[in-house]
Amino acid sequence: MHSFSYTRALEVETAVQEKVAGPANKFIAGGTNLTDLMKAEVEKPEQLIDIRRLPLKTIAENPEGGLRLGALVTNADTAYHEQIETRYPLLSKAILAGASAQLRNMATNGGNPLQRTRCYYFYDTATACNKREPGTGCSAINGFNRIHAILGASESCIAVHPSDMAVALTALDAKINVSGPNGERVISFPEFHRLPGDTPHIDTNLQADELITSIDLPAQGFAEHNTYLKIRDRESYAFALVSVAAALEMDGTIIKEARIALGGVAHKPWRSTEAEDLLRGKEARVENFKPVAEAIINGAQGYGHNNFKIELAKRAIVRALLQAANIEEKS
Ligand SMILES: Cc1cc2nc3c(=O)[nH]c(=O)nc-3n(C[C@H](O)[C@H](O)[C@H](O)COP(=O)(O)OP(=O)(O)OC[C@H]3O[C@@H](n4cnc5c(N)ncnc54)[C@H](O)[C@@H]3O)c2cc1C
Ligand code: SF4
Repeated sequence: MHSFSYTRALEVETAVQEKVAGPANKFIAGGTNLTDLMKAEVEKPEQLIDIRRLPLKTIAENPEGGLRLGALVTNADTAYHEQIETRYPLLSKAILAGASAQLRNMATNGGNPLQRTRCYYFYDTATACNKREPGTGCSAINGFNRIHAILGASESCIAVHPSDMAVALTALDAKINVSGPNGERVISFPEFHRLPGDTPHIDTNLQADELITSIDLPAQGFAEHNTYLKIRDRESYAFALVSVAAALEMDGTIIKEARIALGGVAHKPWRSTEAEDLLRGKEARVENFKPVAEAIINGAQGYGHNNFKIELAKRAIVRALLQAANIEEKS
């Protein structure tokens, strides 16, 4: 049994100061991931700093003409917000594809992108895991790796990032606003999560003492043509084997602008600007989507049990682009 203390912060500055005071102190928001990790003894905080009463619970216009999502707005309130549903339906769809209604009622916009991998070995403290305990090895590489990465993995870790919301936010080019002991800064979503390299215990570029205060959505929401396609073992309450956030701006059947990001395939949401360049100016049709899928999946590597994900990802990309373009062709 691991003992910890509990405090409740009412101001952002106080929360940050309490975090700075102890390297093993942790913020808790919805608690839907952190408490699971504590029960499994993967996380052993000395102090839990409850941030749920911080004044970060609004969704409002931001100076760029988009929306600012408070870090403590729940995933449910975000997905069903009238402005999100109409201007950023891709984000609504991605959030609603994740977890369950009860979990989304608790989970927050700040906590969601910081949830940790669902690699079975990460949760099992009897096994070696470089992410949980650096330098011990990776049990998944030669183990059961059906849910693991096919892109951007390393010899140290082949885990994937599990968030659905983060895939849509990466495609939408959202920005994360953070507050820390040295003031405030902004991190673009595609730069927020990291590849594992030889430091897989570090998931993101957020510094240990920094608090996420809000997420900014840019003005362009791709509201007309978008889809979040999530392929999983069950139709609900399951993490993505492969997911695709696709967003297009069309002029008739011609693609003017494209965004595409994948979930379930890498240690971070996998955005391909190369694929987006390939799509620009093209007619929306299967023959033009197949080379895009090949370009995104180029260099993919399976580890045995997850080899199927390579073909699955290619097909999912083509299908997602067809769905986003509203075109009925066989993928
Ligand atoms: C059974 C189950 C199924 C699930 N299925 C899915 C799914 O299909 N798709 C999906 O995307 N997710 C899924 N989830 C995960 C769920 O979405 C996350 O647990 C949730 O979004 C985390 O948000 P939270 O507010 O509860 O975070 P918490 O658990 O409170 O915190 C998570 C981490 O973020 C840190 N943190 C929280 N807020 C901040 C902040 N503002 N600034 C800095 N650090 C912060 C905490 O210290 C902690 O390290 C599932 C979870 C469960 C239990
Ligand atoms: S894949 Fe990463 S999280 Fe899973 S066992 Fe290997 S090091 Fe740990």
